[in-house]
Amino acid sequence: MTSTEPSSPPTGRHPATATSAGAAGSDFIRELVRADIEQGTFGGRVCTRFPPEPNGYLHIGHAKAICLDFGIAQEFGGVCNLRFDDTNPLTEDEEFVDGIIADLAWLGFTSEGPPLYASDYFEQLHQWAEHLIGQGLAYVDDQDGDAISAGRGGFGQAGVDSPFRSRTVEENLELFRGMRSGAFADGARVLRAKIDMQHENMQMRDPVMYRIRRSHHFRTGDAWVIYPTYDWAHGQSDAIEGVTHSLCTLEFDSHRQLYDWYLSHVPVPGDVPRQTEFARLELTHTVTSKRKLAQLVADGAVDGWDDPRLPTLRGLRKRGYPASAIREFCAFIGAARTNSRHAIELLESFVRTELNRTAIRRMAVLRPLRLVITNWPDDADGRPVVELREAVNNPENDADGVRQVPFSRVLYIERDDFMEDPPSQFFRLSPGREVRLRAAYFVTCTEVVKDADGEVVEVRCTYDPATAGGSAPDGRKVKATMHWVSADHALDATVALYDRLFSAEVPGEATGDPLDDLNPTARELLTGCKLEPAAGDTAPGTVVQFERLGYFARDIETPTLWHRTVGLRDEWANIQKRLPKR
Ligand code: ATP
Ligand code: MG
Repeated sequence: MTSTEPSSPPTGRHPATATSAGAAGSDFIRELVRADIEQGTFGGRVCTRFPPEPNGYLHIGHAKAICLDFGIAQEFGGVCNLRFDDTNPLTEDEEFVDGIIADLAWLGFTSEGPPLYASDYFEQLHQWAEHLIGQGLAYVDDQDGDAISAGRGGFGQAGVDSPFRSRTVEENLELFRGMRSGAFADGARVLRAKIDMQHENMQMRDPVMYRIRRSHHFRTGDAWVIYPTYDWAHGQSDAIEGVTHSLCTLEFDSHRQLYDWYLSHVPVPGDVPRQTEFARLELTHTVTSKRKLAQLVADGAVDGWDDPRLPTLRGLRKRGYPASAIREFCAFIGAARTNSRHAIELLESFVRTELNRTAIRRMAVLRPLRLVITNWPDDADGRPVVELREAVNNPENDADGVRQVPFSRVLYIERDDFMEDPPSQFFRLSPGREVRLRAAYFVTCTEVVKDADGEVVEVRCTYDPATAGGSAPDGRKVKATMHWVSADHALDATVALYDRLFSAEVPGEATGDPLDDLNPTARELLTGCKLEPAAGDTAPGTVVQFERLGYFARDIETPTLWHRTVGLRDEWANIQKRLPKR
């Protein structure tokens, strides 16, 4: 499999060092696979597949499926195929194939050999359809879509046989060949399996197998005017590939009976795959449905599939989520049989834990306020002295070393770090108050400069040269340590702050439409941010910790733009504290 994009996650850790979805765990799927191996089912073979439809980009929900499909194959010495289920030419595109391959590689997984495509099996599927017709198990129906759905009935409501259900094998074969050769208009006829119009499982009420659709397919071109339905193609594609464990999400539970019916009525050459369903991944404050994500993109509610507000792998990557943190999250939540929604803060805590270990520290001021040190010395030329202050790059990793940060008379501090009339719990800078500037000196605020509107535009301080070591020789204490950037040396930057994409925990819970809960202020763009010079040395795509502010990913295309990955506060820990103790 080839990738068009670098496969290293932003932290620089190569995915090959940690590709598994976690230790061979103990979820019910792994138990099943283990038992199959012990009992010699499938000759002890394990073959899984990840079967995306190339009609959108991968999201965090897919990551769960990928970690299971690829993880289980790796852990049990099997193989996992990447197969595109490309049966719907209307919505599918090469762009998505390439995107999915690249995102999969970024997440740390590659399939052995080139990707596979359901469209490569169209001829075989067609032969099997004729086989079913020959057995009297499929028929051509001339009813339109509405009539077919009406005839199906519903739950507890009888189905009605199509008037075309009793066509002879010969007639069906001739008509189906006519469908394939283009003798009929789009939608004029369909091929249906002949199962049971009174079946309690609606999927079994003579499902459609083929539709006439004159539509250009991105791989088969105009070779076909009929296309198989997903349900007709899926199980047979698994069988053709020798898939043993066909893992999919719970909504396919009711399809299993149909897939098994198809597989028992066509002459599949080898093992018949067995389907096992697991719960979809859902997260609070976001959606993990490709259809919903596609709608956000199409509506222009976000900037594209890689918008950092989205839970797409490209969005998360741009935002600075390390692939390894996503894999660890997926391993942690495991596979369950019942649907549940995980707190998005849990995912964020995996990201934060990883970045705390790996991200180097820099100072950045997002909403700058000038701070002038009135007793700062000039050099021989009458210019303010520039001192290089040493700061640790990563207290979690000595190997990351130190850097020099220029310090001089005019600095920027965070506007929030100063209050003219502070309440009693505010310990940062205010008139008459002394604070520590990280890696530099103690400063005391002596004066406030305001503009015509009365807004504070500058604070003036004195510094104590004796506090260069970070403490005062006389033992006096300060209650706050603040970050800063030297005005003359600062790099200008734009910073994107992100909030929840949906304000409701369960988007759409109240109205049924998630888009009603879209948070219009999920992104705040701050221009005029100031960074210490060493922030410019970090490679685009890298995540750094801006001290006291959070983790920020440097944009690859626009290196002056930084995306906030996650904040510093462990909100997951707070949520756990609120949960009732057992
Ligand atoms: P969506 O329902 O989000 O539109 P999909 O099922 O149509 O997604 P596919 O590309 O067909 O998307 O999915 C490929 C595989 O990923 C399937 O096996 C599917 O079950 C799995 N998958 C999709 N969404 C999730 C999710 N939220 N959690 C876990 N697995 C998922
Ligand atoms: Mg699907």
